[in-house]
Amino acid sequence: MDQNTIWKNTLEEIKVSVSPSVFQTFFSQSVLKKKEGDIATIAFPNPYLADLAQKRYYSLLKSALDNQTKANNSLLFITYKRPPEEKNGQPSPLFDQVSPKTTSTPTSSAPTFSPPKPPSILHPKYIFNNYIVGNSNNFAYAAAQAVVENPGLAYNPLFIWGGVGVGKTHLMQATGHAILEKNPDLKLLYASAETFGNELIASIQQKTVSKFKNKYRKLDVFLIDDIQFIAGKEYTQEEFFHTFNALYMAGKQIILTSDKKPEEIQQLEDRLVSRFQGGLTVDIQHPDYETRLAILKQYISEKNISINPDALNLFATTVESNVREIEGKFRELTLQTSSQNIAQINLNSVQQFFGLKAKIGETKKITHRHAISLVSKHFKIKTSDLLGKSRKKDLVTARHIAAYLLRTDLDLPLQEIGRILGGRDHTSIMHAVDKIKHLFSTNQQIRHEIVTIRKNY
Ligand code: ADP
Ligand code: MG
Repeated sequence: MDQNTIWKNTLEEIKVSVSPSVFQTFFSQSVLKKKEGDIATIAFPNPYLADLAQKRYYSLLKSALDNQTKANNSLLFITYKRPPEEKNGQPSPLFDQVSPKTTSTPTSSAPTFSPPKPPSILHPKYIFNNYIVGNSNNFAYAAAQAVVENPGLAYNPLFIWGGVGVGKTHLMQATGHAILEKNPDLKLLYASAETFGNELIASIQQKTVSKFKNKYRKLDVFLIDDIQFIAGKEYTQEEFFHTFNALYMAGKQIILTSDKKPEEIQQLEDRLVSRFQGGLTVDIQHPDYETRLAILKQYISEKNISINPDALNLFATTVESNVREIEGKFRELTLQTSSQNIAQINLNSVQQFFGLKAKIGETKKITHRHAISLVSKHFKIKTSDLLGKSRKKDLVTARHIAAYLLRTDLDLPLQEIGRILGGRDHTSIMHAVDKIKHLFSTNQQIRHEIVTIRKNY
């Protein structure tokens, strides 16, 4: 079997075990570059895809390839310089193409005479440098990178959807910045769908519709934000459809964002839904704990805020929301603590902020007895077992968490905690507290247990 056939069969096998969007993002443009002995070199359109594919799909690729070649392969992941279809001048027969193939790419089609560029209106703050990538957005990020590498060719249109404040506009504009950095001559425009609609109406009133059409249909890259806005607006949809087609047919890159996936936008014409589905659709989810922590770390270093690591962890654990709300809540916290005149935001400030602990000046509601009983109840164990001698794993973990809570939330001395927890030595309490402190920042399960217990204070 030749290399192309091997890879084609391998991809067929993979296609049935991943979702269509994963297949399209990661595999549709991959190539088996070399196969020497048991070493297979697989090439991807850009380093991000190669890196992500290696991290996420190594074993999937290996088992499919092993299956096809009846060998125990080692895989190498590399980047190819140009998409294969550009090299041999025609579309690769191996893969479904996702973009219209034009004879020239936007990069190479510099016109002899170019009218003045429209302002791109990109926000300088929305760039890749400060865009944190995690599980919630790495698909969308990889797709955006592929578009930067090959505008108009990689994925067209690129449709990014997700709830409010998850980073759609930031990612879209960062993509715009990066495209312009590589190709400063491209005519790129960012507009919200609302602006598009309003300009259209104004142009009708002012009888300047052809100027309006010209402005949008002459672009090389069109970033249109919150496209759901045109739902139910018949005339705007009609005009957008023609703008979309004109750009698409000319191989120009279109990126759209929306709060829903195309087929779920109510009152959007079918012909637009199917156009939007014709490229790649990616979503952005709410950030997970690690991403929230990374976003907050970036925020505190930008704003020069001093916060103790335990306090930051607690904050990142407690606010399970979108990025905009996380930043908003954190701003609130810093405002609140700035009036308290403390050098560093500490665990206490964060606990108070979320109402997990009585405010300074109020009598402490929580006693050590109450804390111990909450821990026993949470783990469904008897208090006598929690304080007893058994070294059973579940009991030990519960005991360590109790020690941690008594230390961090009640500020009790180690010796006293040892006495409360059934007569234990203060050094073992110290180890227990350190251990849970560490687990709090590394182990999601433990973090969840602690936050749940604290909610009942
Ligand atoms: P959306 O368009 O999805 O409503 P935005 O792109 O406006 O969300 O993002 C809201 C805020 O959160 C912005 O200030 C943005 O810079 C920030 N933000 C969102 N995602 C990230 C991220 N992954 N890394 C850093 N900041 C982010
Ligand atoms: Mg937005």
